[in-house]
Amino acid sequence: MAKTIIEPFKIKSVEPIKFTSPEYRGRVLKEAHYNLFLLKAEDVLIDFLTDSGTAAMSSKQWAALMDGDESYAGSRSFFTFEKVVKDLTGLRHIIPTHQGRAAEKILFTVAGGKGKVIPNNTHFDTTRANAEFSGCIAVDLPVQVALETDAFADFKGDMDLNRLEDLVKRTGREKIPFCMITVTNNSVGGQPVSMKNIREAKLLLDKFDIPLILDACRFAENAFFIKLREPGYREKSVREIAREMFSYADGCTMSAKKDALVNIGGFLALNDEALAEKARSLLIMTEGFPTYGGLAGRDLDAMAQGLVEVLDEDYLKYRIRSIEYFGEKLLKEGVPVLVPTGGHAVFLDARRFLPNIPSSSYPGQSIAVELYIEGGIRSVEIGSVMFGKEAGGEFQAAQLELVRLAVPRRVYTQSHIDFAAELIIEVFKRRENIPGYKITYEPPYLRHFTAHFEPVLS
Ligand SMILES: *Cc1c(COP(=O)(O)O)cnc(C)c1O
Repeated sequence: MAKTIIEPFKIKSVEPIKFTSPEYRGRVLKEAHYNLFLLKAEDVLIDFLTDSGTAAMSSKQWAALMDGDESYAGSRSFFTFEKVVKDLTGLRHIIPTHQGRAAEKILFTVAGGKGKVIPNNTHFDTTRANAEFSGCIAVDLPVQVALETDAFADFKGDMDLNRLEDLVKRTGREKIPFCMITVTNNSVGGQPVSMKNIREAKLLLDKFDIPLILDACRFAENAFFIKLREPGYREKSVREIAREMFSYADGCTMSAKKDALVNIGGFLALNDEALAEKARSLLIMTEGFPTYGGLAGRDLDAMAQGLVEVLDEDYLKYRIRSIEYFGEKLLKEGVPVLVPTGGHAVFLDARRFLPNIPSSSYPGQSIAVELYIEGGIRSVEIGSVMFGKEAGGEFQAAQLELVRLAVPRRVYTQSHIDFAAELIIEVFKRRENIPGYKITYEPPYLRHFTAHFEPVLS
């Protein structure tokens, strides 16, 4: 039997990508002030900026779009969608939203608020922003090993349950309206959370009567990792594993732009009837009527179909293997990569890649710039540009300096990955000659999206 794991699809519709020269890319990037967010996407050859909303839909999803029911109220598309989500999650109240952060906004408005404390393994940035905007304190409780980029562990996405118990006892149950667990844990590298961790978190939370809400964006990738790595799950289907994960939850938020394989969409699901009622009232004000929630009817059909397709184990095997394959190619040439590779992206460790560039000269930004100029690859800095601070004139570095290459679902083939790996290796080989960067303009919030940079010539 041949061992190569192939793309489990054939291609029916293609979208050309544009080849440009290094001179051209150098020029347009300079015009974009060395900020890859400010490039025109058509000037990018391979776009690893994000896996969010960038998936290729299947022919069945495109067919489902055509079949969407655009009735304002009681649309057939809603009932199709609701049934799929209920069958998957077992949760009672299903509230569609236009994307994940809209579900978060509603949840924190109805259940968060001033002085409340929200624990999470690690809050994703929009989750933290919505928690804090409502007045909550967002507390990250990752396991220690999550911060060691060169340490192999099966479930680096886990929550530290000792710290959770401490936090609950110190804070008091009445200040904690719910606890969240993010699967997979995006912010520490798309690392999976074990079933044991979810189950034990639930047992602990039950003692204090605190509900558990899953941030379920990558539930299928997480479930597949459990099947591969956790004792007792090899013989279970990914659907059964996902169902067990959701069985410990009292609700979930979901960005369908990830594991529902669509370009826009999301939902909030809750068991608590009174809370769901409040959420629906707010939904009507901010998103739309509860049977469409900020989406077209056809989007609900595409999500429903995507949520079925994402549990196909041939798909997940290919998905997880293609990320691992990308990482392996780099590791073989000594490129420092966060290990093990997670579910949706390869992360370069910029501190080890460019040890001569201090955090204050943004080594991750340096790598991202070089990868674009060298070969038209777009990645994203996740380090001191994104999370660093100038507190009282003093530079404060982020915990990690990473460059994320997020792989869109079903979009690129093995040769795209081979090409990208070769390019990264070439940049790594000439790493001595790469300059650092300084920020010449920044807005007051979320500076990475719009900041301007210039190379620091030493
Ligand atoms: C993307 C993401 C969100 C937010 O979803 P959007 O659809 O981008 O609003 C929330 N949590 C995690 C873990 C995510 O990856």
